[in-house]
This record gives sequence, C-alpha cells and structure tokens, in this order.
Amino acid sequence: MKAVRLHEYGQHPVVEEVAEPRITSPYDVIVRIGGAGLCRTDLHIMEGHFRAQSGITLPYILGHENAGRVSAVGSAVDIVAVGDTVIVHPQISCGFCRSCRAGNDMHCIQAAFPGMDTDGGMAELLKTSARAVVRLNPTLAPEDVAALADAGITAYHAVKKAIPQLYPGTRAVVIGAGGLGHIGIQCLKALTPAEIIVVDRSPEALALCKSWGAHHTVLADGQQIATVKEMTNGRGAEVILDFVGENSSVTDGIAMLQRAGTYYMIGYGGQLLVPTGLLISTEISFVGNLVGSYNELVELMTLTEQGKVTLHTTFYPLDAASDAIHDLETGKLRGRGILIP
Ligand SMILES: [Zn+2]
Ligand SMILES: [Zn+2]
Repeated sequence: MKAVRLHEYGQHPVVEEVAEPRITSPYDVIVRIGGAGLCRTDLHIMEGHFRAQSGITLPYILGHENAGRVSAVGSAVDIVAVGDTVIVHPQISCGFCRSCRAGNDMHCIQAAFPGMDTDGGMAELLKTSARAVVRLNPTLAPEDVAALADAGITAYHAVKKAIPQLYPGTRAVVIGAGGLGHIGIQCLKALTPAEIIVVDRSPEALALCKSWGAHHTVLADGQQIATVKEMTNGRGAEVILDFVGENSSVTDGIAMLQRAGTYYMIGYGGQLLVPTGLLISTEISFVGNLVGSYNELVELMTLTEQGKVTLHTTFYPLDAASDAIHDLETGKLRGRGILIP
C-alpha cells in the first residue's frame, strides 16, 4: 500500500510502497483510511521534537487524525464490523490500568499512539484497536471529520474543562483561529454562554470567525492586549484558550487574563515563564491539555451530527503530502489539511 513515511528528521516525509498491516491480536481493527488530517504536531515530529520521547526508529508512517472504513477485525471485536465507517481515537489504550478505568484514555500506562510512536494513518490502511474506534453516524463522511480525531477532540477537551468558569457574563479569549482554534470557537459557542473574543495575526482567518460563533475579533497588530483589555472593562478575560502556545502568544495571553482567571494551553512549542509572585498575587491558573478521552470524541461526534461543529478543510491526495506540509509550514493552509489516499 501507499504510505507517507518519515525517513529523516528535518526532512519532509516520502510517499512510498510499504507492506500492509495485518491482524495479529484479537482486539485489532484495520481501517481503510478515508481521510488523514495533517497537524502542526506532524511538523514538530519532523523537526525531531519527540525524538527521545517517542522512542521510534525511522522510517515510520505519520498521521494521527484518522477516519475511514473498517476493513478487518480481530476475533474478539464486536463493537464494529467490516464496512462500518469510523473515526479513530488517536491513542490505543489498554483498558485495564487505573487511568483507562477512570476514562483518562490519554494517560494509559501502556498506550501506543499511531503516527507518533507506531505507524500512523497517512496511508491506505491503519492498524488500531477496538477501544479506539468510534462508529460514525452514516450522515458523516470520514474525510470530513478526520481532523476531529485529534485537533477537534483537543479543542473540545479544553473547552469542556472551562465550562464551570464560563457562566453567563464571562469572556473567553481564543488565541489563534487556525486548525484547532476554529473548532474551539464552535465548541465554546455550543457548550457555553461566554462572550467569545478571537485574536489572530491573519485578517483572513479572523474574517471567518464570526460564522463560527465569535462575538469579537481582534487583529494581533501590536495593540491586541490593549484592545482586549478595553473589551473586558480593563480587567481581562476569565478564560484564555491558547491554541498557539509559542512566540508572543503566551505573554500576550497572560496580559489578557483576569485575576483568578484560567489559562488553557492547547498549542505548544514555546516556553511558559511566569514569576511565581504573579501566580500567588493574582491566583491565575495554567492548565495543560492533551488530546481528550474516547467519550469526549463520542460527544464531539454528536455535536458534529447536530451541525454545531463543522471543519474547515482543504483536501489533498495522499501523493501530494509534501505540498500539504509545505502549505502548513508557510501559513498558506486555511483550516485543516486532509490527505485522501
Ligand atoms: Zn494533531
Ligand atoms: Zn490503560
């Protein structure tokens, strides 16, 4: 089968022929990929950011945002059948450890993460497990929802945590209206009554935000902190959702956060440097967000079926993976890039 494999850090991956995955354990599920999302994490993987952590030897297949049609199942699988359309939770979890039993799939002690530490879904076929597959409502096409498997669930997970802080009359600032941010805006709109303020450097990205549910948009032109302060009675917002997490987004975000407010970090790549005195004197909190649980993916699929969350996507054939990566690297990609085998 054809697959997008990373051979060397610092280089683009290569589209090439590789052996097809096979069922080797009773709970294996093999999915014929309908769409595989391209993610900023893939750029971080290519840069070698996770080299030590993932422990993987190159080459391997990228792709952790996958959806498609079940093509084979192990002998113990009855949650899905061959032919079902599914979206794939990015983590293969064991089901037996305390984290799994608590529903914290992402903190499973025996997990595998296809596309990060094992072969992923930028290919014709992907091997995952029964615990990771969510059967799709027939109204949803795999290629239209693939990026919700990681980008979507991550945005949803952070917004769901912020619900108690976002009661009527509160404000949420969304930093970054890209692939994750545009889903975060829709989740905020669907799950909370908060006033939504979106900050981005791109006027084109901001132009789309109102249709996703944003109440205000702020161009990051150097005046963004002052503008957000003005919109929030000089106090700042109760919640910041930072979908960028690098460059000046973090210092900006902290300056836009109200006393006792909560900062949700979703994007990453930069540094969080906060004077401990500021933390104490203002009682601000910082919360990390790692993907989301299986149940949260099911909930997000419900919002999608209801038309409350839609993905803004650009499709590329699998063969054009390098073009898609180039477009993401150079900021030309709007919404989410999806590779179609
Ligand atoms: Zn991702
Ligand atoms: Zn586990």
